[in-house]
Amino acid sequence: MNLSFNRRSFLYILLLMIIFSCSKFSNLSNINTMPNTENKNPFFSTTDTTQIDISNTEWKKILSPELYAIAREASTERPMSGKYNDFDEIGEYYCAVCGNHLFRSTAKFSSSCGWPSFFEADKNGVKYRKDISHGMDRIEVLCKRCNSHLGHVFNDGPKPTGVRFCMNSISLHFEPKN
Ligand code: FE
Repeated sequence: MNLSFNRRSFLYILLLMIIFSCSKFSNLSNINTMPNTENKNPFFSTTDTTQIDISNTEWKKILSPELYAIAREASTERPMSGKYNDFDEIGEYYCAVCGNHLFRSTAKFSSSCGWPSFFEADKNGVKYRKDISHGMDRIEVLCKRCNSHLGHVFNDGPKPTGVRFCMNSISLHFEPKN
């Protein structure tokens, strides 16, 4: 009786271990293929264009601390530190918070300023706001769909537009062209 119980317990534990290891493996494979927030962010979509207007209290529960600090508190990542600074793959850039389309890789250029730079943005992807913080007079760039901070735009870019969208890598989600 006792032996039978132990055997049943052993089989039960073995079954639980198999289920646990499978689900863990599945989660890890999701993390490797998704942006840093998408796997727990119900608002992230590269096709849905519905406006998102939720509080920072809610965003704080959804976003990683690094993305929250930049997207919702307008922090800036350290220069030369972002994964898209020295990066020239062909594809599309989306808002890392909501998935809204922001830039094409064909508008990216090497600016040596330390952050990924673009000479043109998707006009349906971004909006602008005057920013006089830190004793500077700048134009802030925000996501048009979710109002998250992306970076700033300056009038020292290359032709044909002459502008430089200076972005935080953390605010961007890149999808390579197939
Ligand atoms: Fe967004």
